[in-house]
Amino acid sequence: MAEDLVERIVSLCKQRGFVYPSSEIYGGLNAVYDFGPLGVRLRRNIRNRWWRSMVELRDDVDGIETSVLMNPEVWAASGHVQSFTDPLVDCTGACRKRWREDHLAAERTARGKAPDAPGCPECGGPLTAARQFNLMFKTFIGPVEDSAAQIWLRPETAQGMFVNFANVVNSTRRRLPFGIAQQGKAFRNEISPGNFIFRLREFELMEMEYFCKPGSDRELHDYWCQERWRWHTEEMGVRAGNLRLRAHEKHELSHYSTATSDIEYSYPFGWGELEGIADRTDYDLRTHAEHSGRDLSFFDAQTNERFTPFVIEPAVGLERIFITLLVDAYDEEAVRGETRVVLRLHPDVAPVQVAVLPLSKRAELTEPAHRIDHELRAVFATEYDETQSIGRRYRRQDEIGTPLAVTVDFDTLQDDAVTIRERDSMEQVRVPLANLTPALKDQLDASRRRAVARATGSS
Ligand code: ATP
Repeated sequence: MAEDLVERIVSLCKQRGFVYPSSEIYGGLNAVYDFGPLGVRLRRNIRNRWWRSMVELRDDVDGIETSVLMNPEVWAASGHVQSFTDPLVDCTGACRKRWREDHLAAERTARGKAPDAPGCPECGGPLTAARQFNLMFKTFIGPVEDSAAQIWLRPETAQGMFVNFANVVNSTRRRLPFGIAQQGKAFRNEISPGNFIFRLREFELMEMEYFCKPGSDRELHDYWCQERWRWHTEEMGVRAGNLRLRAHEKHELSHYSTATSDIEYSYPFGWGELEGIADRTDYDLRTHAEHSGRDLSFFDAQTNERFTPFVIEPAVGLERIFITLLVDAYDEEAVRGETRVVLRLHPDVAPVQVAVLPLSKRAELTEPAHRIDHELRAVFATEYDETQSIGRRYRRQDEIGTPLAVTVDFDTLQDDAVTIRERDSMEQVRVPLANLTPALKDQLDASRRRAVARATGSS
């Protein structure tokens, strides 16, 4: 299954309304995607769980939102104009593909070739020497398209937080260590995007800059590596056995970092970065202070010292989590001679938590089912579905990862009770309507415990 798992997920996403190619009726746009009704629910769950854990539940982090378009001086100062580049090589043989030089070995391995084989990973043809290609998208501000009007679409959200450092300190009176977090769109003109939504040209970043005293950065880097690992497993339900923490070699480090560790996931196409946790030192604040002439140091009133804080940055792409959740949750099992596809999603990330299904389309069932759905909606993420046979509707809910389904049948009219069906075991229990909400809450709690046990390997 591993080889074509991505294709199966792509088609499930299209069919069920998670992900569509962008502007598909015009042939799409490479490495840009749209998100359908279920995709949007999943995105919001990912985004909200990140925000809850990184901002709302913490004493030491504030959230901000900064603009996509910024003064171009920002990107000159940050080093992005100079150094936010990837080494590009072209195949001059049969296939004429473009590659990232630092990805050649992995691309060869993915095609069953020796990592150090000479030539193009695809066709074996000759490759050009590498040239540096800047990943930032250019655009123009105002009516005149000259160099004075040229600006960039942000390739990371981090700079918006660095240039607002003094604003945030002044308005919150924070003491170190503290963090500034933000979620928002980022754009990178990737040389070789692909693997569905793994590497996109437009994506959403979720980043947190954790400012600290120089010297405390290594310890805090370790802390954030552990904390983010805990989040991916215990709060998102990703199986720890499919993850690894990998420290960057010196030559891999970004221009601003002295230490970076990636949380990597074992995707069907090989190990890939899920999240990066970087020690950015005082590089960004120092360089912005130099270029802007503004004071971006911090005065520690307890020790009477003034210094430029160091910063630890956990940075993760929302769509990277999205594809990881789908790959990790996707399962196929034989049930009564048929293949059942199940997304074993954590119940708090699942786009639908409770499906409400009347057994038939007759009004005597659809009316109470609608009423039940409306009541449950206040507490759970629900979906009402009266199309097709009940068996097919259960299969659909399994495919989209819905942990629980409530079925309203003709007996309901007599006994004021409904059936709750659980996704993983397919077990059904009859519950009085008066007790439905607490019964669903209990079952979701059990489902949460199972998801954590599955993710941490303790089941
Ligand atoms: P790479 O070397 O793989 O291009 P990077 O190390 O430059 O990536 P970071 O700048 O560390 O990537 O990005 C932080 C996070 O943002 C990544 O861990 C990933 O989750 C996400 N991300 C980065 N680039 C993309 C992209 N093109 N599409 C989707 N998500 C991305």
